Amino acid sequence: MARRGPSARRGLAACVLYSRDMATIKFWGTRGSIATPLPDRMKYGGDTSCVEIVTHEGLEIIMDAGTGMRRLGQVIMGRKSSCKGGALFLSHLHWDHIQGFPFFIPIYDPHFKFQIYGPMRVDQTLEYRLKKQMSDLFFPVVLEEVSAKLEFIEIVEEPIQLGQTTVIPRFQNHPQGSYGYRIEDAGKVIAYMTDNEHPAAEVLEDTRILAANADVLIFDAQYTPEEYEKHRGWGHSTWLTATKIARECGVKRLVLFHHDPDHNDDFIDAIVALACEQFPATIAASRDLEIQL
Ligand SMILES: [Zn+2]
Ligand SMILES: [Zn+2]
Repeated sequence: MARRGPSARRGLAACVLYSRDMATIKFWGTRGSIATPLPDRMKYGGDTSCVEIVTHEGLEIIMDAGTGMRRLGQVIMGRKSSCKGGALFLSHLHWDHIQGFPFFIPIYDPHFKFQIYGPMRVDQTLEYRLKKQMSDLFFPVVLEEVSAKLEFIEIVEEPIQLGQTTVIPRFQNHPQGSYGYRIEDAGKVIAYMTDNEHPAAEVLEDTRILAANADVLIFDAQYTPEEYEKHRGWGHSTWLTATKIARECGVKRLVLFHHDPDHNDDFIDAIVALACEQFPATIAASRDLEIQL
């Protein structure tokens, strides 16, 4: 029996952080699969997936809770703002997308409130699955001891309204599934599509819905086309597929994301150079990269 969160269609982000007229994207975690804190990977970053979007209204939206979320939490705690909280969107619950959550300090502060959106499973709730990570089997603090107010919302393929920002989720091809998100904010569009094994030959209809005319497309580019042949079914795409999607969907800027742990900075530099031949407005997500829209 399918379950649905209490406010899947209309969620109010907890508060306004600070008002500015443009949305900002910041990459706190860019790596796929497992954190790789190695000296020759520091340009593109060793922390796993965590991207912060502050909307034009100043709402805090966090995409995924990989290890990069720890540093984001420290920065949030240092911000002078009476409004505390935001919305966290999980693409899915594989380790590299949730391991930063127990180390995200704001959840231990009762003044904070977070809405946590994540994929539905018919057998276990989203809250249960995150509780499992923070159970005494694996972590010294259990989720029940967290003092921030947490609201768990299981998403389906319906738009979610956060203030004036609309978030559109679509299911993606990945082991156990994942969600990609289109964030529409004051005429600007950010598409976040990680952990998505997308066909190379065609652009899927749901992909067009998420990525159409996006100002910034953040896309899973874990593999080279050669590497992909050995990793079919592992749930990830190539930089070449990312450039094809960017071109066909009228994207303005492509950000290659979810870097393979085995790729050092020089290797990713080479991938970006090749990708730019296919789609010139390509960069790779790098540690602490900030993009203003
Ligand atoms: Zn991943
Ligand atoms: Zn995954």
